Amino acid sequence: MLKKSPILATLAVAATLIASAGGVNAQEQVVNLYSARHYQTDEALYSNFTKTTGIKINRVDADDAGILARLKAEGAASPADVILLVDAARLVKGDSEGLFKPIKSPLLEKAIPAQLRAQATPEGTTWFGFSTRARVIVYDKLKVNKADVDTYEELADPKNKGLLCTRSGSHPYNLSLFGAVTEHLGAAKAEEWLKGMVANMARPPKGGDTDQIKGVASGECAIAITNSYYLARILRSSAPEDKAIADKVGVVFPNQQSWGTHVNIAGAAVARNAKNSANAVKFMEYLASPEAQNYFANGNNEWPAVAGVKLSNAALQAMSGGSFKSETIPSSTVGANQVKVQQMLDRVGYK
Ligand code: FE
Repeated sequence: MLKKSPILATLAVAATLIASAGGVNAQEQVVNLYSARHYQTDEALYSNFTKTTGIKINRVDADDAGILARLKAEGAASPADVILLVDAARLVKGDSEGLFKPIKSPLLEKAIPAQLRAQATPEGTTWFGFSTRARVIVYDKLKVNKADVDTYEELADPKNKGLLCTRSGSHPYNLSLFGAVTEHLGAAKAEEWLKGMVANMARPPKGGDTDQIKGVASGECAIAITNSYYLARILRSSAPEDKAIADKVGVVFPNQQSWGTHVNIAGAAVARNAKNSANAVKFMEYLASPEAQNYFANGNNEWPAVAGVKLSNAALQAMSGGSFKSETIPSSTVGANQVKVQQMLDRVGYK
């Protein structure tokens, strides 16, 4: 059952506006975008697209879950043409619910590495990743040795008892990380690992990624997990309270000696019932251009998905020591493990 949420209400109003805007001028080229990205720097991304192509963007902002719920509720009447989401598990979920339309774009197939997009079928490919973010470990430099937290496995080691903070295990960022670990370790060992993490918690899971970093800085926890861009934001901030956090917290890109650090994606798909499919594909192809990649990835302290696009971000360079080894499991495989992972979380009592 769909509960009426403020997000859905906002979307409903916005969708009506989009529908009526479409009727004003039938000749006008538009693309209706549902976006889970809400970064200031994306404004330039959108206005450049309109400047370059003459296609106007009508944008509806909501979070991943709100967008998927809305698409489902709207069905064939949905005005959505293109969808932006910020996690592999959500992209896989939307895909499995039949909310996306497969497309064939030689440009995107060439630009976006195979492991950062949906598995192609004879009908085409449903979603493409446009930026990557690493799921890193942060720690209290005074209380914890880097060597004791340089693998995901060690988060569950009894030596780290009482030190760990995480957000909810069921949040897509964690479902994706745990889905990746399940691929690497196998389901039985992954479940033991989750159980070990529950035993090591400093407090029950709560808050967002930034709250975990702040928890380490405040002493509530000594070890936490976060997406790389949240830490990069703090490192780039000139606010005194952020500088204090940056001084206290160390970062590690886990599993450099084994399978590499888990990497998630932000990605896009054409909506199943898109009325402006061609414009939606144009928008996605634009996102793969060097200029758009620069806004899309660097603007939010992420890594560009397109090879050869320069990372112009000193904070990310400093954090990773220039480069790091990332895992090579396809995002589609990681996202496909989310149901299995949720069942494990329920069994081990990971909230
Ligand atoms: Fe995020």
